[in-house]
Amino acid sequence: MYPRVILKATLYKKSQQKRRTSPCNYKERYFVLNTEELTYSERRPGKKPIEKGCIKLSDITCVEVVRSNVPIPCEFKYPFQVVYDSYYLYVFAPDNDCRLKWVRALKEVTKHNEVSLYYHPDFWGDGRWRCCDRPQKQSAGCSEYFPSECASKKPLPPTPDPQRRVSTSEDRIVVALKNFVPQEDTDIPLHKDEEYVVIDSSEPNWWRVKDRDGNIGTVPFLYITEKHSKDSFKSFKSIEDYEWYNKDIARAEAEALLMKEDKEGAFMVRDSRQAGVYTVSVFTKAPGSNGEKNPRIKHYLIRETEKSLFYLAEKYLFPSIPELIHYHQHNAAGLITRLRYCVSLDTGNGPRMKELTSERWELNAEEITQGEELGSGQFGLVFKGLWQGQAVAIKTIREDAMSEEEFKEEAEIMTKLSHPKLVQLYGVCTQRSPICLVTEFLENGCLTDFLRSQRGQLSQKTLLGMCLDISEAMAYLESSNFIHRDLAARNCLVSKDLVVKVSDFGMTRYVLDDQYRSFTTKFPVKWSSPEVIKFSKFSSKSDVWSYGVLMWEVYSEGKLPYEYRSNMEVVESLNAGQRLLKPRLCPETVYQLMQWCWKEKPEDRPSFALLFHDLASLDDPMSPGHFQL
Ligand code: ADP
Repeated sequence: MYPRVILKATLYKKSQQKRRTSPCNYKERYFVLNTEELTYSERRPGKKPIEKGCIKLSDITCVEVVRSNVPIPCEFKYPFQVVYDSYYLYVFAPDNDCRLKWVRALKEVTKHNEVSLYYHPDFWGDGRWRCCDRPQKQSAGCSEYFPSECASKKPLPPTPDPQRRVSTSEDRIVVALKNFVPQEDTDIPLHKDEEYVVIDSSEPNWWRVKDRDGNIGTVPFLYITEKHSKDSFKSFKSIEDYEWYNKDIARAEAEALLMKEDKEGAFMVRDSRQAGVYTVSVFTKAPGSNGEKNPRIKHYLIRETEKSLFYLAEKYLFPSIPELIHYHQHNAAGLITRLRYCVSLDTGNGPRMKELTSERWELNAEEITQGEELGSGQFGLVFKGLWQGQAVAIKTIREDAMSEEEFKEEAEIMTKLSHPKLVQLYGVCTQRSPICLVTEFLENGCLTDFLRSQRGQLSQKTLLGMCLDISEAMAYLESSNFIHRDLAARNCLVSKDLVVKVSDFGMTRYVLDDQYRSFTTKFPVKWSSPEVIKFSKFSSKSDVWSYGVLMWEVYSEGKLPYEYRSNMEVVESLNAGQRLLKPRLCPETVYQLMQWCWKEKPEDRPSFALLFHDLASLDDPMSPGHFQL
């Protein structure tokens, strides 16, 4: 019997880069799905089709939509993935309906296969999975995979329509800031950028929401945001509404205005001399290809494809000019600099839209006053400052030090983390260069320096109190599903009342320094658990290991752990089962807790909630400690 054809269509596919050296590219292919295989071929007018690939359906382990916000450099913008034999085939459909049709059909014909339990909802790129940050391409997925729609926990409505909204106008809508994998039976998954209706927001950390298929469950409050702050483009009508657009301005006048601003990345959009065409004018001091360094203005025409998609220097295509500008406000992508700072002639005719990028965490540069320098950090200089009448720390970020785009994606989540023992991140200022983070200011500075400066003067009560403060902050992060990844005394700060607060949570994810990222000289091996050193497997339990080392730092009054050993020697001694020795000032009961944190297997280590509880009971002499190893 011949195989029966189920679907056929012209789609795009991304090369699979099976060989490391092959360039990544996108090709138009004619796809045919029949009851036995999925084939794709090259079709050229007047020539015989050439089959370029054939996947046996029995080899397929996962078929799913790719949920990503990376710009897609081919004309078809709706990706889905077919995983087979550990290869990932990414296919791009022209619209969502077409994509869902293919995904459903492929799921249907492969649902009796031995499918994956988990999959990666986002692309692999730049050496990591964009969804979960894991650096191994073959790592298990991070989201539960449902082989067919009816296999998901609750049945879908009869005719699922992805654009359909289940809400009424009175519903409170939130949007997922990132994916979330359920951890309890009562949780539901979150998919980045999808909308949910709020059912119950009375619990501060966990809200109950309803997804578009009617599933109701809890999700972490940190991972969601009220819809209006995300709904940037849809409600705006014409480009005249935008602050960056200057109607009726001549090239010379635009140049004069931008030169007067004298800020790297100052830009505006204006009418070009060609009717109906727009130009982006940008101020820069960056060296040009011929070595020129003088401040100058570069002009880029906004071009349009036959399919009414817009682009600037390189072919990053967008359905509208505001979306194009928004993208280039975050990515240079072929421009001399990204569009940092919009300049406009104040025409005074009615309200203009405020800065498009302004999100809740974006602070107004004019409200921040910079004072004395406090020190130098991993990302750049740190200054004392004033913002809204309060003392703040301003952490400037060197341009080459941080992956800014990824940081901004997470910035809202980080500003929402709020606890008395956590250094509050007030917001970010991206309108100035270098960009900066504005945080709570703590008078006594970094914990390591403080411990060293107070050697011999700190009481047992103070030392225990410090450990207790940190465990309290960490129990909060743990309950919020947030991993610190670089917990150490150098990343804690001390207030004027000697309260210790945890700082720099999650920030290492944005470090661009190769010596840090490649686990060489700058990676904090001495604070890292064995599973982090071996497999980069970060979790709250790897934070617990680091916390044990941090307790050791506190009780040794700011000594460097494993002082005379190299990172390599530390790894070897850990592998041999050795651990840091008890500091002289450390009571046996506290050392037992440290050793509990340094259990080889993450699951054998205590949670922060338990650590906090046990330390608190040590603080109270009436109550017996109840920790166990
Ligand atoms: P990094 O952790 O990136 O290396 P830090 O955040 O430790 O850099 O900043 C460097 C120095 O600046 C610190 O050692 C501390 O003295 C000072 N500093 C940083 N943040 C604050 C703050 N919120 N309050 C007071 N001082 C701070």
